[in-house]
Amino acid sequence: MQSARTESMEDAKEMADLEKYRALGGWVEKPDDLQPALEGDVSADVVIVGAGFAGLSAALELAKRGAKVIVLEREFAGFGASGRNAGYLAGALGLEYDLFLKDIGNEKAKQIVRYYEDAVTFVEGKLKEHGIDCDYNQSGLIRAGIHPSQEEKVREGMRIGAELGLQSDFLDEAQMRARGIPTAFLFGNYVPRGGTLNPGKYVMGLRRAALRAGVKIYENTPLLSYTEGAVIQVKTPRGSASAPVLMLATNAYTPQLGLLADKVVPLRISAIETEPLSEAQLAALGWPRREGIVTAHWTMESHRLTAHNTLVLTTKRIHYPYGSKTPNVPDYDQYRELRVALHDRFPTLKGIALRACWSGYISFANDALPVVGTTGANQNVYYAAGCSGHGVAAQSMVGHMIAERIRGTEPPLLAALSHETPATLSEPFRWCVVNGALAGANVLDDLVNRKVRDAAGPA
Ligand SMILES: Cc1cc2nc3c(=O)[nH]c(=O)nc-3n(C[C@H](O)[C@H](O)[C@H](O)COP(=O)(O)OP(=O)(O)OC[C@H]3O[C@@H](n4cnc5c(N)ncnc54)[C@H](O)[C@@H]3O)c2cc1C
Repeated sequence: MQSARTESMEDAKEMADLEKYRALGGWVEKPDDLQPALEGDVSADVVIVGAGFAGLSAALELAKRGAKVIVLEREFAGFGASGRNAGYLAGALGLEYDLFLKDIGNEKAKQIVRYYEDAVTFVEGKLKEHGIDCDYNQSGLIRAGIHPSQEEKVREGMRIGAELGLQSDFLDEAQMRARGIPTAFLFGNYVPRGGTLNPGKYVMGLRRAALRAGVKIYENTPLLSYTEGAVIQVKTPRGSASAPVLMLATNAYTPQLGLLADKVVPLRISAIETEPLSEAQLAALGWPRREGIVTAHWTMESHRLTAHNTLVLTTKRIHYPYGSKTPNVPDYDQYRELRVALHDRFPTLKGIALRACWSGYISFANDALPVVGTTGANQNVYYAAGCSGHGVAAQSMVGHMIAERIRGTEPPLLAALSHETPATLSEPFRWCVVNGALAGANVLDDLVNRKVRDAAGPA
């Protein structure tokens, strides 16, 4: 039994860890060359709102095709999920087949799998094209089980994936140990495509490439409103912009602009990052190829090493804020839960201090599929949301594909994304149902976690 003194030392340590909150996420700082806010009236061929992977990828392609492009960013490029994610350059591994397969059928699902898989190759190509060094480790990714009861789920996901064209392998316990994967992860579905990167370096690389290509980025410039028409007028606090085409690359923030509120909800997910591991800790951990690992929980955990030898954990808990709001605030309950996962999965790192904790928003549709299309009387307002937490590759490619469509080429995989997104409930039912479903997932996941802890015995 722990003494009161040990418990209070643990509490104090936990408090110190949780004070590592970073309002900007763990990977980016406000750029030294912050671009001036928009003042006065400007015009362009295309106005893009939001400078994350989607907005910047679209801007780059449009500029390449000779368009005059303006990007309006409320804070600075990478402020949203693009600068806060776990950095998994993942294809179709994270798709939630249960949520859409029945509705869209196998043929469309095959194209969606192809879209996610192609998006990985697309980003790999863009990193080379723009000379972006973002510590990309082409390690492949593993969806792992931490308890035998998860094996059926992993195998079923793998079976459906294979039917839809996703190539992957099942790794049994001997194969996991032979790869040196940390022992908490018993078996897994290994996808060789993709790997992990530093998303901050990636998004800042896109920003630099866009500026080099002549894209005009206005930072500290929120879009306040827009009026539709053949020429769209966009209002910001100290200026306005007009263009025949508007692209809303605002992902989780889109409902606040009065669009897609009935299609997507913003979900808050969090991350913790440890201090760098010592040589001895790294050696004890093994994990020589550093594959990005996600678990087979109902709400997955993600575990990865970074190029600077820290460990980043994300997800495990998800929260929907009432009214589809996206406050930039800490979520200490989520950090605490992630810290528990850190100690459960990596007992040899017990006591390691945290370097940072942060939170961000993904946008989620009821079928967990992308929500991409056009709106407005002139169908000249483009949008791309519903990344469902898997947008490092996908949102990059969708931005590029929307740019192609704007310039008159119809990418076949963009057409494949079009489908009827199921409507969300209105408040307060939305809050109750979404958070109720998430709480149900937590109960099921906690049961598995408890079984694993019981089998391991006292710490
Ligand atoms: C903790 C976390 C972990 C994740 N891990 C992964 C992962 O490992 N792999 C993966 O594939 N995906 C992951 N994701 C999801 C991924 O980060 C997103 O899918 C992706 O970054 C979305 O890119 P985006 O460009 O569409 O949106 P964002 O990056 O969110 O960009 C939207 C931008 O719009 C700006 N904006 C909003 N409103 C306005 C306005 N009114 N005016 C002007 N600008 C505005 C915002 O400031 C923001 O910069 C994760 C997300 C989070 C939060």
